[in-house]
Amino acid sequence: SNLLLDIKNISVDYYAANGAVHAVRDVNLSLKHGEIVGLAGESGSGKSTLAYAISRLLRPPAAITGGQVMYYPHIQSDERRTAFTAALDRANISRVTDPVYQQQQAGVDILKLTPAQLRAFRWNELSIVFQSAMNALNPVMDIGTQITDVLHAHQPERSAQACKDRARELLKLVGISPDRIKSYPHELSGGMRQRVIIAIALALQPELIIMDEPTTALDVVVQREILDLISSLCKETGTALIFITHDLSLLLELVDRVAVMYAGKLVEVADRNNFYAHARHPYSYGLMNSFPTLHGPRRKMVGIAGSPPDLRNIPAGCPFHDRCPMAFDACHKVIPVLRTPVASAPEQIAACHLYDSKITGRTGIPAPSD
Ligand code: SF4
Ligand code: MG
Repeated sequence: SNLLLDIKNISVDYYAANGAVHAVRDVNLSLKHGEIVGLAGESGSGKSTLAYAISRLLRPPAAITGGQVMYYPHIQSDERRTAFTAALDRANISRVTDPVYQQQQAGVDILKLTPAQLRAFRWNELSIVFQSAMNALNPVMDIGTQITDVLHAHQPERSAQACKDRARELLKLVGISPDRIKSYPHELSGGMRQRVIIAIALALQPELIIMDEPTTALDVVVQREILDLISSLCKETGTALIFITHDLSLLLELVDRVAVMYAGKLVEVADRNNFYAHARHPYSYGLMNSFPTLHGPRRKMVGIAGSPPDLRNIPAGCPFHDRCPMAFDACHKVIPVLRTPVASAPEQIAACHLYDSKITGRTGIPAPSD
């Protein structure tokens, strides 16, 4: 199968003096090899927490209270490496030879990896770029050393010279002249620092990269360039990407699928085109309408009034009912489950009673109220 990651029933609580905060609630999401998924939602919706959970980076007082994160290493791993090498060739960069590491085709539960397995897993299989990653570079070390450190730590058999050559190749791959290898972070623009971070994330050719709002500190034009770079490198090398954002406007054109979280729950998942044309969850309409589109008719700037519920004390019914312009009786009582709103788009799911004919008493899709 083409499955890379299968997040099953993941829940995360933060323990606080005044009660547990249910930050992620029973999330199911899968990712195919090489797929680019945008994970969207307002701040506090649980998207970063989910990313931390699946990469085993949560620390107390946060804890995973249930679920599995199955990971299926690429069966055609060699193909991906060939694609990666081809990308380097196209950039007129010398061929890379990486040691082949052990493959476990049966799948592993990331949550059950031992500390030693986890160390091998990070960077080689999964790399993570955090919020304000630009500031994650060490200010007193040149960028070349920072890249070679990662290579050397994970591939100690590689010679110092080979690490350095590879660092130059990686810089070139992200559009930075290898002559800058001795530059310090403060000598680079924000966009270039972000490119260095991407080079580090790609250094060991992982199967999956998770990026948590890595570009929000940059101006919009530079953000756009960086996002284009990330998505084209991922597409070309077959690397899967989970891109976390509160701002869908920038990346909707670059992703294959969109997953929307609200109050710790996944409320909609759809491929990019369906989401763009017909977002189904009222919260998604809100996210879509809260920005002007780049192409086509300009949408109203509506935004979403109100704020998300207290995750210590989640109200009955749909967690969005307080803010939903389409809420009706059942929304205050019954928790909506993810279902397929239209048979012709079976991959699209939304957690909203409007699509439950048993609750609405009618069939068909209600029109969004705009
Ligand atoms: Fe709105 Fe009700 Fe749908 Fe929730 S279930 S999003 S409150 S219409
Ligand atoms: Mg966040």
